[in-house]
Amino acid sequence: MGFIVAIDGPAGTGKGTITKRIAKRLGLINIDTGATYRCVALEVLNQNIDLHNQEAIIQVAKTIHIDMKQEKEQQQVYVNGENVTEKIRTPEVSKIVSQVSSIIEVRLQMVELQRKLAQGKDVIMEGRDITTYVFPHADVKIYMDAKVEERAKRRFLEYQEKGLKQTYEEVLEDIKKRDKNDKEKELGALKQAEDAIYVDTTYMTIPEVEEKIVAIIQKAKSN
Ligand code: C5P
Repeated sequence: MGFIVAIDGPAGTGKGTITKRIAKRLGLINIDTGATYRCVALEVLNQNIDLHNQEAIIQVAKTIHIDMKQEKEQQQVYVNGENVTEKIRTPEVSKIVSQVSSIIEVRLQMVELQRKLAQGKDVIMEGRDITTYVFPHADVKIYMDAKVEERAKRRFLEYQEKGLKQTYEEVLEDIKKRDKNDKEKELGALKQAEDAIYVDTTYMTIPEVEEKIVAIIQKAKSN
């Protein structure tokens, strides 16, 4: 087993940004587990599958081929050979992903894939249930959090930069719904593991969060 840094937390806490930076800095493989659920959600949209049709969604999860590749220092996500890195980040996917990822069979499939992606490597992995379910014995366990209004503001600015039309209120509403859904999942619900270190990023800059988490990782490595 390689060295595993596991980070959980709700949407908009900066997990994605921070793990990318730290992966590069410390030479770790970055695994964004949310992307795996987003790929299933994208395929559900592409195939026009009704969200109540769990059997069809499970079938997608069982047959989908997801690949993550490090290209030009950026992680690229592929579904059945197509690069979907941008497509999985749209508000449409964000709106349904939590519902799709609530289906237990979908989770079991994705967790198997996530564990496979990490096998034998030194990784930094972020999501909702990494510290509690996917890798409960990870070498470093962190729970990132921030006030919901700040998280919505960050996601709103990100959408604006990409030219996606969403109001702040719509983004806030979506994040609140996702938080609730993610915390109430039957399997892999979002919660802080007892031994995870809590990092509140509400009033911190990205470099400050990076330094704090790098210090936590380096301390664990020296033990
Ligand atoms: O992290 P990101 O916002 O991309 O995750 C998208 C969604 O995927 C989350 O809202 C959650 O419903 C689901 N997810 C999950 N377990 C993970 C990672 C993400 O259920 N480990």
